[in-house]
Amino acid sequence: MTGGPTIQWTVSALTDAFCEAGIEAGDNLVLHSSYKCLGAVEGGPGGVVEALLSALGPAGNLMVPTFTYSLPMWSAEPFDLHNSKSRVGAITEAVRLHPRALRSFHPTHSVAVIGPDAEEIVRNHLHSTPIGLESPFGRMVRRGAKILMLGTHQDTNSSLHYCEVAANLPYIRVAFREGMDYELAWFFNENGQIEYAQVFEVPGCSRGFRVIEGPLRERGVLRDVLVGGAPSQLLEMARFVPVAVEILSAEPSLLLCNTVQCQICGKRREFMKKNTG
Ligand SMILES: [Zn+2]
Repeated sequence: MTGGPTIQWTVSALTDAFCEAGIEAGDNLVLHSSYKCLGAVEGGPGGVVEALLSALGPAGNLMVPTFTYSLPMWSAEPFDLHNSKSRVGAITEAVRLHPRALRSFHPTHSVAVIGPDAEEIVRNHLHSTPIGLESPFGRMVRRGAKILMLGTHQDTNSSLHYCEVAANLPYIRVAFREGMDYELAWFFNENGQIEYAQVFEVPGCSRGFRVIEGPLRERGVLRDVLVGGAPSQLLEMARFVPVAVEILSAEPSLLLCNTVQCQICGKRREFMKKNTG
């Protein structure tokens, strides 16, 4: 599915494509996306958002990551709720800029939600952990949300970080900084002053996450779908999370990558060797 001719997708044709792929009115949906996999879409990334909102209808909730990773070591600017751009793709930025979107206040792993329950989904994120049990992702799990990987693979599935926490994998206590169990993030508070927050259960690296695709597919919790010509994946949290937690509990280091330049997986693997039998 690469290198084909550019297809012009209208918003209404894309709405139909989302419905055919299994998105239903009233769904809670977590979207991970690659805009360039779709080719040319009427209205650009904003057109994709309109198509999704049409498929979800007025009762549905659409959530996307708008992560900024605002740690002083990675980001020259503190997190600014209203102005920091999403660093995870054009469609997520289009959701953030949508007039009905609410963004959670979190200096590293904020999300944006459009829908009738947006306020409840995004509230109090700073006092939770980034992708932990009480985060917006945890709330979407309890809502029985679907996850659509639009033109992407499991290596962008942030909910696998939720599964790392839910499986209580010991390595979630190992941060990027040497010997630390938390990172220090920075943000502008509502008075425009810079503040710092401790971030525990730091989501690490997701380079290795594709190893779980096969097992999830075999267990019937990952469905391959085609949306607008883009090979995509659809999962239901109610079925996917327990299966992923079971797989990770049996093999706790499965998701750690072997990339030499990775700043965290090696440390986490060492930690697991020392702290598990
Ligand atoms: Zn890694």
